[in-house]
Amino acid sequence: MAGSVQQTDVAIIGAGPVGLFAVFECGMLGLKCHVLDALGAPGGQCSALYPEKPIYDIPGHPTIAAADLIAKLEEQAAPFAPVYHLGQEVEALQRIPGGFRLATARGTAIETKAVIIAAGVGAFGPNRPPLDAIERYEGKSVFYLVSRREAFREVAADIDEGADAIIVKPALPYLDIVAGARERFDVPIAAYNVSGEYAMVKAAAMQGWIDERRVVLEALTSIKRAGADMIITYHAKDAVRWLETA
Ligand SMILES: Cc1cc2nc3c(=O)[nH]c(=O)nc-3n(C[C@H](O)[C@H](O)[C@H](O)COP(=O)(O)OP(=O)(O)OC[C@H]3O[C@@H](n4cnc5c(N)ncnc54)[C@H](O)[C@@H]3O)c2cc1C
Repeated sequence: MAGSVQQTDVAIIGAGPVGLFAVFECGMLGLKCHVLDALGAPGGQCSALYPEKPIYDIPGHPTIAAADLIAKLEEQAAPFAPVYHLGQEVEALQRIPGGFRLATARGTAIETKAVIIAAGVGAFGPNRPPLDAIERYEGKSVFYLVSRREAFREVAADIDEGADAIIVKPALPYLDIVAGARERFDVPIAAYNVSGEYAMVKAAAMQGWIDERRVVLEALTSIKRAGADMIITYHAKDAVRWLETA
């Protein structure tokens, strides 16, 4: 509801698993919640990045698919009637007498007695590889997420319609998708080893915890072994140097 200022006890920024469970906890204390998320649906990373992946570390659930966990968290929160504001990033947070005022990119304004920031690693969206005019191919032959295995069917349809290559990202968490696509499709497959994957290795190497050369070459080899024809990686220059001097 853009335009008017809405009032609540608690505003929760982020409708990921943490934000959803916070609704339940607040509800048990008799507090009314508004939940805001930049994504168009609740669930954070679980819904947006890996809804079908089994999770094994949830107490009481030996295994549960990420999407099912989110459905259960929503069900658990539902009796407390949270008000969701989805598809809108919170852009401003200021102190006002008696609480806080939030404003979103779509003009929603909320005054609240308390704010819970359950924003995970922050709002996220496509992490575009640095390729010219890639936007032209997005949604047609370039996809950033394979969030449903049925998506393979969509890839097949796109290939039928003329897509001449596919990109899978992030590379290491989605080696199964690379391997599955390799088995199913006879088009070049690029795996995008994203900046987060790069940063983790670099940070550990800088701490002296790992042998960077060995870890990088092993990771890149695993991507190749999964079936990628091309690897887009920030390790490229180092890897070439190491391979040339091997
Ligand atoms: C591929 C993959 C597999 C994983 N597997 C597991 C696993 O098996 N087990 C496990 O325990 N963990 C796993 N994780 C990690 C797990 O997903 C995260 O720890 C978890 O999602 C964190 O929950 P959260 O609610 O804190 O944050 P998130 O899930 O990141 O949700 C935060 C939400 O806040 C929103 N947000 C951020 N900033 C704003 C803003 N300014 N305005 C509006 N909205 C905002 C975001 O859009 C997002 O929806 C995995 C992660 C990935 C990427």
